[in-house]
Amino acid sequence: MGLFDMFKKPAPKPAPKPLRPLVRPGALPPHPEPQADNNFIIVILDSCRYDSFMSAETKHIAKLSGGKVEKRYTYASWTAPSHYNLLTGLLPHTSPEHVYASEYYKEDFFNYNQRLGAKGIEFAKMVPGLWFPELLRNQLGYKTHARVSLPVLNPKTGINRAFDSFQLMDSHNDMASMLPTLTFESDRPSFYLLNVGETHYPYAKPDEDSSMWPRISGVNGVFRKMNDQIDPEHPDFKEEFQFFDQDKLDQLRERQIDTVRYLDGVFEQLYDLVPKNTHIIVTADHGELFGEAGYFGHGPIMHEKCFEVPYLEGMVR
Ligand SMILES: [Zn+2]
Repeated sequence: MGLFDMFKKPAPKPAPKPLRPLVRPGALPPHPEPQADNNFIIVILDSCRYDSFMSAETKHIAKLSGGKVEKRYTYASWTAPSHYNLLTGLLPHTSPEHVYASEYYKEDFFNYNQRLGAKGIEFAKMVPGLWFPELLRNQLGYKTHARVSLPVLNPKTGINRAFDSFQLMDSHNDMASMLPTLTFESDRPSFYLLNVGETHYPYAKPDEDSSMWPRISGVNGVFRKMNDQIDPEHPDFKEEFQFFDQDKLDQLRERQIDTVRYLDGVFEQLYDLVPKNTHIIVTADHGELFGEAGYFGHGPIMHEKCFEVPYLEGMVR
């Protein structure tokens, strides 16, 4: 460019093309008009295996279902994949014989019409995202919320999609502290996922001093076969990974049952505070092993007690 060129008027710029609105990743679209009548709550008792739930002989929890508690089976043996699956809308299954999976999914999904007080819900509406909170929020107009106890479900994980609010609670074992955070609106229904941690190892009620918790070395479910390994750098390794003896495992199972008894009172409070037209499901994400076949905990375990979970649903009023 020469010296005089600097004084020339710049050539007019072509008119800018109209900008498309920017889509921010993670941003949620506005809620449509509500298309369903009922609030919907799913409570996951983390690690609560079916027979622990039954041994607790709760008075309040099964009011929802007229006392009926089903034994169902989870699709996954640990927390993260199990919650992911639940949020695709697939609840613990009944293991039906002589039925194609696709037929079972379709039928199971159709029940959401009754649960939610809605019409026209079918599995095809989930395509392509296959994500139930998205259907609830973006098609049916729900406010969508999660309150979780286990850090593997924290809000930075992939589970947090299409939620209006998603909170990892301060304590891993305090369902009662979730209750004041639940709000319901008069002009649109709400969905809540509540992941409850009292029933997870170390099976502790919120007021129990953590110094009284049972101790294990290593990570839950990982150290099962470590007795066979010896690290030459750490000759004491073998002692550190001694497995619980059966007495201790029986005590741990009693502790899990006791947390369910305690939670019965918290459910009574939950049922008191929810509005009319609230459909509630109570279940677990997987079971737990207490010494059967040499296993403890859940996760990398192929055993029926890891897959048996309680399942009940209904409305309180
Ligand atoms: Zn879990």
